[in-house]
Parts: sequence; structure tokens; C-alpha cells
Amino acid sequence: MQIGHQILTNPVARGLNILGDRWTILIMRDAFLGRHRFSEFRTYTGIARGTLSNRLEALVAEGLLVKKPYSESPPRFDYKLTEKGRSLYPWALLIWQWESQWTDQQEAGVPGVLRHKVDGHTHNLIPQCVCRHCREVLRYDDVKRVVTGEQSDISAQEISEKFGSQRRTRSQVTADADHALGHIIDIIGDRWTTLILAAAFIGLRRYDDFHQQLGIATNILADRLKMLLQMEVLERKEYQSNPPRYQYELTEKGKSLYPQTMAVRQWVLDCLPAAVHPFKLVHKNCGEDLAVDVICGECKQVPKVGNVEFDRHL
Ligand SMILES: [Zn+2]
Ligand SMILES: [Zn+2]
Repeated sequence: MQIGHQILTNPVARGLNILGDRWTILIMRDAFLGRHRFSEFRTYTGIARGTLSNRLEALVAEGLLVKKPYSESPPRFDYKLTEKGRSLYPWALLIWQWESQWTDQQEAGVPGVLRHKVDGHTHNLIPQCVCRHCREVLRYDDVKRVVTGEQSDISAQEISEKFGSQRRTRSQVTADADHALGHIIDIIGDRWTTLILAAAFIGLRRYDDFHQQLGIATNILADRLKMLLQMEVLERKEYQSNPPRYQYELTEKGKSLYPQTMAVRQWVLDCLPAAVHPFKLVHKNCGEDLAVDVICGECKQVPKVGNVEFDRHL
């Protein structure tokens, strides 16, 4: 099964290359909570000054934030969400949803309850990822994956190197994971972990396949698989008894990360030009090519940044 290239060049990988970084995710979370000044990002995310300015510049370069001066002397800037940045809000809501379902929110650094304001009325907001065609709630097991063979101009090797050059070191990730084990940012804030997850979503199960198809060094792969097992996103199952051989399978908790992954993919397809589609994803329920929307479970409308209230600020 030669699918490494398809994993590395698909829209999910492209989105993760922009977003699959712990600090970037924290900055976007704060931007969605209404923060827009350097000092506010510093206070709430706890990011070191140099790293923060580096990530903010990257988000400006990607067109997710726009930088505007609000004081000339000394020079100070606001970082406001662009339309492209705001269109990631559904993804942020699904991250919140996953945290509230699977973790202790007191520790997670996310609001406890979201409320949706529509026409002067408010109700609790439970975000749902639905099929754009039949409007049924998206489930991992309802999607069929077909490799189309469409190739991108970028080689898997180049992308793999790009992931490698931007990844954080092993020791940093492990230390963070020990500190806050179980939170979604430990999974989606690390490019290698997200890549392993993306590969699991399209059917990779075995250690050798992850190693060969993704080109991940064995020590990093072993470290990330161990973390995904600890977090109960993957489970180890014996597929052969003599000699015993194991493979890594998605748990229900792991499968529940699928909607946010599809929301990233949808954002890339909707907002970034000329995305490559090496996989055809088909929603089995309606037979259409998969496209998703994130809606409010109560009123079925798409929540916008200004229409959502939080019970507390962090
Ligand atoms: Zn459908
Ligand atoms: Zn609503």
C-alpha cells in the first residue's frame, strides 16, 4: 500500500502544516476569544516573547491575522482576524467540543459553556459537524476513502522534510505531554502526532507502515505512538499470535477527532487555492463527495465569532 505520498500531500496535511503547532493554536484560540494585542496574547498563552512574535508574523503571512498599528510612539500593533482567519472558527468550536466531551475542562483552559445568540435569543451551543449535502452528523465510520491517484507537484520527501524542519524537539513535546496529558492540543499541536492520526484515519495500522509511509524516525514514532496509546486515542491489538504481532487501531475517542480533522480539510478546500485531492472521500449515507459544515445543534445555523458567548473568560 503506497499511500505515504497521498497522506503527505492531501488537504489535511496542508492545513496541519499551517495550524499543527501548539503556539499557533493557542494564539488562534485567544483571537477567537476576542484578544488582539501582543500583551494580551503574552498574558493568556504564556508564550515567550520571541516565539510569540514569530508565530504572529507567520499568521499574518498566511493571511489569518492582519496587523494594524494602534500607537505610533512607542509602535504598538493590533492583530485582528481576517475573513480567512474567521472561517477557522468552526474548527475551533469542534476543538472546544472535543475538550468538553473528553477532558476535565477546569484544566483544559477552555470555557465551560458556550451560548449561541440568534435574533436576541440565546441557547446553549453544542457544535456539530454535519455533511454539507445530507446534513447528517459526521461519523468516522460513515466515510469511504478512495485513492484517486491524483498527484501533486510537491514530493512526499519535500513535505516530510518541511514537517521535520518545523517540528519541535522530542524532549519538549514529551515534557508538555506529561504536564497536561489528555488535552487535544497535545495531539493537534504537534505535527508528527497529527500526521500519524491523519494516516490512521485513512487506514494505516502497523508500525512498519507508519515508519515507511510517513518517513518518521523510529524514536519519534515510538514516542508519539506511546502518547496516543496513553491518551486512549489508539489501542494496540494483536493481529497475529505466533509470533505475536500488534497493530494500532483507533478507539472511539480517536474516531471522535475525525470531525475537527475534516473541518481543517474543509477550510483548506474552501479557502486555500488549488488544493490537491489525492483522496476521494465519500459520505456513505448520501453517496456524495464529502464536504462538511459546522452548525449549532440547537438552531442548525452556522455560529459566527460575534454570536457566541462564554460563561467565563480565562
Ligand atoms: Zn451526506
Ligand atoms: Zn444556535
